[in-house]
Amino acid sequence: MITVFLRFYEELNDFLPLEHQKVRFQRKLKQSPSVKDLIESCGVPHPEVDLILINGESVGFDHRISNRDDISIYPVFESFDISDVKRLQARPLRQLQFVADGNLGKLARKMRLLGLDVAFDASAAKDDLLQTMINDNRVILTTNRGLLMRKIVERGYCVRSDNPTIQTREVIRRFDLVNVISPFTRCVCCNAVLKSVNKEEVLEYLKADTRKFYDAFTQCPECRKVYWYGSHTVRIQKFVEWIRKDFSV
Ligand SMILES: [Zn+2]
Repeated sequence: MITVFLRFYEELNDFLPLEHQKVRFQRKLKQSPSVKDLIESCGVPHPEVDLILINGESVGFDHRISNRDDISIYPVFESFDISDVKRLQARPLRQLQFVADGNLGKLARKMRLLGLDVAFDASAAKDDLLQTMINDNRVILTTNRGLLMRKIVERGYCVRSDNPTIQTREVIRRFDLVNVISPFTRCVCCNAVLKSVNKEEVLEYLKADTRKFYDAFTQCPECRKVYWYGSHTVRIQKFVEWIRKDFSV
């Protein structure tokens, strides 16, 4: 029997029972697991973890636990400057791509609205999601923390809020995406990149009022949906401003 002490920091506490949140707590173990298995047995999926300190030393997920180890576990925290320790999550790539699970259709649409690449299929099974994740090297977004604990998952995020607007902000914060937001560039229905088109090319898709009052259009090359800057875009601009404002403080 070995005894270890754990302390989870910041939003990793979201996964813990109340009595273990924001405090150092003790676990007694029959064997000596890897630190990854120990962390997941506490309910925290490994893609959420970016830094593990054991007795002050940074370690990898495979590190074996010893008796009396004192373990501090940190989430991905972009402004946390700790260049001399072992960060466990890959740094954000310039163009991150995502795949969202079947519960996150509204999040997928909102992220697409901001120009972010999010694959989504409401009918996809878990194995389909994982396959898309692997095939396209996508980051998985899910409300299912068990899915994130699969060994095959390297990059993923467990969405906390039930509100799609707040969820969008969570993902932008977690993956440091505020500088890659590019609104009105991607189809919210099918994720394709929009193309600029002449008004004449899309006249057949427009209602009379739209024909009359608007001149600048984009179109989805996949589903042919036409987009234009109209009254509805003011609401979207406000959403974008709200997201950006949140990161300027
Ligand atoms: Zn489309």
